[in-house]
Amino acid sequence: MFDRKAPTIEERYQKVVADIASAARQSARDPAEILLLAVSKQQPVASIRTLAALGVRDFGENYLQDALDKQAGLEDLPLVWHFVGHVQSNKTRDIAHRFDWVHGVDRLKIARRLSDQRPGRNQGKEPLNVCLQVNIDDEPGKGGLHPDDLPEIAAAVANLPKLRLRGLMAIPKPEIDPDRQRAAFRRVRGLYEALHGRGLGLDTLSMGMSADMQAAIAEGATIVRIGTALFGPRPGP
Ligand SMILES: *Cc1c(COP(=O)(O)O)cnc(C)c1O
Repeated sequence: MFDRKAPTIEERYQKVVADIASAARQSARDPAEILLLAVSKQQPVASIRTLAALGVRDFGENYLQDALDKQAGLEDLPLVWHFVGHVQSNKTRDIAHRFDWVHGVDRLKIARRLSDQRPGRNQGKEPLNVCLQVNIDDEPGKGGLHPDDLPEIAAAVANLPKLRLRGLMAIPKPEIDPDRQRAAFRRVRGLYEALHGRGLGLDTLSMGMSADMQAAIAEGATIVRIGTALFGPRPGP
């Protein structure tokens, strides 16, 4: 085994696409309704270019400064940038200017700042797409809203003029067992459906990473956020 060459990004990409398609088919879903978000944190610009050439358009980053540096080297490509990290108050201006989506909104104060600082349509910017993050396992110290607070925050965020509330994002605690993985995602979907019933026009469930994407798709994920399975292991600090 040790003399086998590590798979290339192309090979990893083909496998992820095939895995998404087969997970979708097993749930009688159309693979086209699942967006592959390539989480390129700690990965070089060259790897982003490789994936972009294969047709990937959506990239996720979680450290603002790294993201800004990479974006500066990729301005010739029509990429869609997603901020998937924790949003600090002092970072909202750059995020509101340089990203298309924010997946980790979990405070109204942050949402208000993002809306206030987002350039308007007269400056060529559509509203910033946001997902509210839920702390689905009620883990202490972890980002995300408590499910009980969701309806009120969602209604307030949906009213902010330069944001477009798209749905929910969650990072359940790691589980090996697929049934346990599915149980957490099913709870997220339940919260999503309850909000959906309130006519907020939601269309996005951002859930599933390399290790649990099949379970997330089975429970209705519309965006899977994939790092390791596409790029290989992150180089580490
Ligand atoms: C790093 C990260 C991912 C991707 O994780 P992998 O396990 O490498 O696929 C997805 N979502 C968020 C929020 C992340 O920070």
